[in-house]
Amino acid sequence: MDMIVVLKSSATDVDEQRVVERIRELGLVPHSSRGEFRTIIGAIGDKTPQACQQLEQLAGVDEVMAITQPYKLASREFHEADTILDVCGIRIGGPHVNIIAGPCAIESREVLFDVASAVKDAGASILRGGAYKPRSSPYSFSGLGEEGLKLLKEAGTAFSMPTITEVVDPRDVETVYEYADMFQIGARNMQNFNLLLEVGKTDKPVFIKRGLAASVTELLMSAEYVLSQGNHRVILCERGIRTFAEETRFTLDVAAIPVIQERSHLPVFVDPSHAAGKRDLVPALALAGIAAGASGAIVEVHSCPERALCDGPQAVLPHNFVTLMGQIKQVAEIVGHRVTLWGREEEPKPRPAVGGWAG
Ligand code: PEP
Ligand code: MN
Repeated sequence: MDMIVVLKSSATDVDEQRVVERIRELGLVPHSSRGEFRTIIGAIGDKTPQACQQLEQLAGVDEVMAITQPYKLASREFHEADTILDVCGIRIGGPHVNIIAGPCAIESREVLFDVASAVKDAGASILRGGAYKPRSSPYSFSGLGEEGLKLLKEAGTAFSMPTITEVVDPRDVETVYEYADMFQIGARNMQNFNLLLEVGKTDKPVFIKRGLAASVTELLMSAEYVLSQGNHRVILCERGIRTFAEETRFTLDVAAIPVIQERSHLPVFVDPSHAAGKRDLVPALALAGIAAGASGAIVEVHSCPERALCDGPQAVLPHNFVTLMGQIKQVAEIVGHRVTLWGREEEPKPRPAVGGWAG
C-alpha cells in the first residue's frame, strides 16, 4: 500500500529533500504537495513496515500514514485543500466559478466567431469547440481536425478567452497542445489509458468528463493516470450517466459533485448540455450543478442550432445564455462562490434575498 509522509510545519527544505531522497532509495516514487500549513509527500509503490518506520524517524517528519483509497494523488488524504489552477490568469477550482461555453463542434469560422462573440459578451471565461468529434455514427460529421484547431486559437485570441477542445487520440496530443489551452477528455475516452498517460506528460490542464457508465471511483482513477505522469492540472466533470430515464439524453448525477469534492481536491465542473440533450432543460441542470457546489459549467451554445452539425437540440441560444449567466451568478453567490465574468472575478456582495436577474 502507498503512504503519505506528513512533514512538521517546522520542517526545512533540507528535511524535505532528505525525505524525498530516502523515499527514492526505498524504491518508491515521491510526489510533494505543499499545502498552506503543511507539506505532504506521497510515497507511491509497495511499502514495507520497515520503510514506514524508517521514514517516521527522519528529521522534520510528523507522521506516516497509509493512503486507503485506490486513487492517491487525486485524494483529499494527499492534498487537503481545494486545488486552484491558474489557466491564462483565470483561477479555476474551489469557490472560483468559471463558465466554459461555445459550440459543440467547430463548424466554420463564421459560426465559431458568432458564438464566441456571444458567449464572451455574456461573461463566459473559457471558449469551447470540438475539432475531433467522437460520434455514435461513423457517417456523422466528425470535426474539422487541425483546421478547426486553428480557428479555435484564432477565436480565443480575438476574444481574449482561453480555449478547450477534445483530444481523442494519443497521436493528436502534440497538435492539440500547439493550439488549445486545455485538453478535454471526452466521456467515451475516460478510460482510454494511453490517451490519459499522454496528456499527463504535458503541462496543460486536462478536463476529464465522467464516462457514460463510470463510477466516481473510476473517474478518480482516470485522474490518477494523468496525475501519476506529473501533470497536476486536472479538472473533473459530471456530464450525466446512463440510466433507465428516457426523457433526458443522460441522467445528471448531481450528488456526484459533492461526493467527488469530499474525496478529491480537484476542481469539479458540471456539463448540463450533454446530460439534458434538450436546450430547455439546460438552465435547470446548470443551476443544480452550481448549487451543488460545482466550480463551473461547460455549456453548449449555438447561434443557429437548427443548422448545427452536432448536438443542435441541446445548444442554448445566445440570448438565453445571457439570462443563464445571470442566474448562475446569483446561485453561485448563495453558495458562497464567485463567478468569473469577462475574465474577471467579482467580490461577492451580501444578498438579502434571491431576486430576478437585472442586467
Ligand atoms: C462534448 O463535450 O461535445 C462531448 C462530446 O461530450 P461528452 O464526451 O461528455 O459526450
Ligand atoms: Mn457536444
